[in-house]
Amino acid sequence: MTQTNVAGQLLTESEAQWSDLPENILTQARRLPAISHDDRRGTCSRCGAELTAARNQLPDGRWYCTACIVLGRVVSGTELLWFPQQVYPPRDLQLSWSGQLTTAQERVAQELMASFDHGRDHLLWAVTGAGKTEMLFPLLRRALSCGERVAVVSPRVDVVLELAPRLAAAFADCVPAVRYGGSGPIPVGQFLLATVHQLLRFKASFGLIVVDEVDAFPYAGDPMLERAVRRAATGSVIFLSATPSASLLRQARRKQIGMSYLPRRFHGFPLPVPQIRLVGKSVYNLRIIKHIISRVIATCARCLIFVPAVRDLDIARKLLAGQGVAASTVHAQEPLRQERVQELRDGAIQVLITTTILERGVTFADCGVVVLQADAPLFASSALVQMAGRAGRKHEHPDNPVLFVSKTYTRAMAQAVRQIKQMNRRRG
Ligand SMILES: [Zn+2]
Repeated sequence: MTQTNVAGQLLTESEAQWSDLPENILTQARRLPAISHDDRRGTCSRCGAELTAARNQLPDGRWYCTACIVLGRVVSGTELLWFPQQVYPPRDLQLSWSGQLTTAQERVAQELMASFDHGRDHLLWAVTGAGKTEMLFPLLRRALSCGERVAVVSPRVDVVLELAPRLAAAFADCVPAVRYGGSGPIPVGQFLLATVHQLLRFKASFGLIVVDEVDAFPYAGDPMLERAVRRAATGSVIFLSATPSASLLRQARRKQIGMSYLPRRFHGFPLPVPQIRLVGKSVYNLRIIKHIISRVIATCARCLIFVPAVRDLDIARKLLAGQGVAASTVHAQEPLRQERVQELRDGAIQVLITTTILERGVTFADCGVVVLQADAPLFASSALVQMAGRAGRKHEHPDNPVLFVSKTYTRAMAQAVRQIKQMNRRRG
C-alpha cells in the first residue's frame, strides 16, 4: 500500500509520474496503448469512445480523446497504466447506524442482498423519500464484510455531497473516500463515494456498484458512463431510481435483472400531489409572488423555488425582495452552493431559488416546493417528479404544498402529476 492507493485504477503516464509512485508499484502496472487507431478510426482505452481522424487528430498527427477530456487528456503514442486489484480480507464489519428499517424497507434490503449474492444486477424503484440510502446499509455492509471493494456513485455532485456524511456516520469503521471533479489517482481504499465520471479511472475493481439517481443527467443516455460502470464492476450493479427508464423496466420484466418496488415513503404518508397554477402572462409578476408563493412560504418552514435557467434566478429573487422576502439563489457554478444549501437546512434562510441542480438527492424538513415556468422544455416529467419529491419528506410535515406555475399545461406536467397519483394509489 502506498500513500495513494492506486489499485484497480487506470492512470495516464503523466498522472503516474506526478503521483510519485514507488518503483515496485510502477512495475506491477499492466500497460496498454492509450489510444489505438488506424488511418480513419480509433478507440480510447480509458472511456471506450469511438474516435475519428476528422474529429480527434491533432495538427501534429497524434490522436486525442474528447469524450473523457474532463479527466485530463489521453493521447495516442502514450500508455495507460492499470494497477492490479488489492485483496481485502473478509471481516465482520459493524454498522454504526442505530436506526430501524420499516418492514417494507427490510424486505427491499433482503432482495438487494439476494441479488448481490447471485452476482445479479438489480433495479430499486422507490418513490422520492422512501429512504433508499438506509435500505442500502445492510447490502453495503455485506459486500464490505465479504472483502469486496464497493462504489456508490451518482451523476450529481450534490447527491454525493448529501450522501457523504450519512455514509461516513453509518460506516465509521470503513468511511468512504469521497471524490468528484479533479484529476489524478483517487485516494481510495475499500469504499468509494463519487460521481459516475470517476469510474472511468477504474477497471474490474468493484464487487458492488450502486448507481444512485440512474435516470438523472448526465448518466441517462450517456453510453460512455454506462460503459464506465460496466467496466469498473466485477459483480452486481444496483440501479436506484424514483422514475426508472423504460429500458431498465423492460430488463426487470424479462428477469434479466432483479427488481424491488417501493411505492411508499418511509413515513407511510402519500406523496404531495402538485397543484397546477396557470397564469396568463409571464410567471415573473407581482401577483404570483403575492398570492401563490407567499402562501407556500407562510405554511412551510422553508421553500425551494425552481426556475429553468440561471438568468431567472435573479428575476425571481428581486420580485421576492420587493415583497419583503429575503431569498438566496444557487446554481451549478455558484461557488457557495454547499453553504447556501446548509443555510436553508439550518433555517438561516427560508427561501432558496435554484436551478435543477437541487431537483434530487437533497432532503429538507418541512419544505414547500414551487416550480416556476413548469412548462419549460427543460423540465421533463422525471425532473418534475423529483422536484415535487423535495416536499413532505419528514413525518411531522408530510403534506407540504407543491405548486407548478406556468403559462401552459404541458404533457410532462400531466405525466408527472399522473405518475405521483399512481404511486399514491399503489401504496396499499
Ligand atoms: Zn476517452
